[in-house]
Amino acid sequence: MMRAARLYAVNDIRVDSVPLPPTPPAGWVRLKVEAAGICGSDLTNFRSGLWITRSPSTAGHEFAAVVTELGEGVTGFALGDRVVTDSRVTCGECSACLTGRPQLCARLGYVGEVCDGGFAEETILPARLLHKIDRGVPREIAAMAEPLAVALHTIRRLRVGADDPILIAGCGTIGGLVALILSKSHRAPILVADNNADRAGLVASVAGARIVALTPDAVTAALGNRPLLHAVEATGSVGALEALTGSVAGGAAIALVGIFHATMQLNPNLFVDRELSFIGCQAFSDELPDAVALLPGLAADLDRLIDRRISLEDVPENYDRLIAGRAQGLKTIILL
Ligand SMILES: [Zn+2]
Ligand SMILES: [Zn+2]
Repeated sequence: MMRAARLYAVNDIRVDSVPLPPTPPAGWVRLKVEAAGICGSDLTNFRSGLWITRSPSTAGHEFAAVVTELGEGVTGFALGDRVVTDSRVTCGECSACLTGRPQLCARLGYVGEVCDGGFAEETILPARLLHKIDRGVPREIAAMAEPLAVALHTIRRLRVGADDPILIAGCGTIGGLVALILSKSHRAPILVADNNADRAGLVASVAGARIVALTPDAVTAALGNRPLLHAVEATGSVGALEALTGSVAGGAAIALVGIFHATMQLNPNLFVDRELSFIGCQAFSDELPDAVALLPGLAADLDRLIDRRISLEDVPENYDRLIAGRAQGLKTIILL
């Protein structure tokens, strides 16, 4: 038997004692989980049931693990390899999959939702989802590879140059990781905004960013005459998106990566008169290997962004704590 945190229904996650996963089928591997991160989308699913397709389901799509058993025909992995996993389960057959845009798969699902995930001592997954990691990368840092890929995808979709000032609204995991990645090569100012002063302060100090309010005056005070042509919406709040839209310069592009819980009234003339662009950013495309390559260099900074290290038994109470907005850092990590 082993322990697993399983989502049953809206507002119902339990830590259960369950049988070990079966022998991995052909093409799959058995994994011993080392560390797993709680994602904002895990919390969204817990609150709304938006992506519940089976119940109960062992949650968790951000994790680091060790390969402990190989299914038939698996090549490229050996027992003892340390890996992180791709979170996306794609069909491989639709037009998006066939044209190299798996994040837009018509039947896209996620590990931890359409199959059991990493909030457990062990799990089994298809080998094609796995990426090897360096032996020296600590387990809690490796567990952050997947959100790092999301942040990389957001930056690439936005096409922001090193000399372009940028404003990131939302200092949660993705907003904070966007700021951190940019801080290593960006020459222009990085501005961040968040209602949670602790998180904004942490991200500003790790990324060398300046905290601003989401107002045109605050942006002008920070940038002077330089126009703000690039922004990231990482809050999922309609109010924040409206404030951000009012704070950027004409001609600006805003990358949207937050998950919204409400719809908004939008005047389409905004796009015409002010030549604004909204760029949707869904998960990531082929950025996971690049994110894995960034881990050693970012390890010290990523360590500062960890909110808490918890045990599997602490998952339900930490879901409540995170939903109540009581996180001080950016990522809560389950150590197994
Ligand atoms: Zn995630
Ligand atoms: Zn597909």
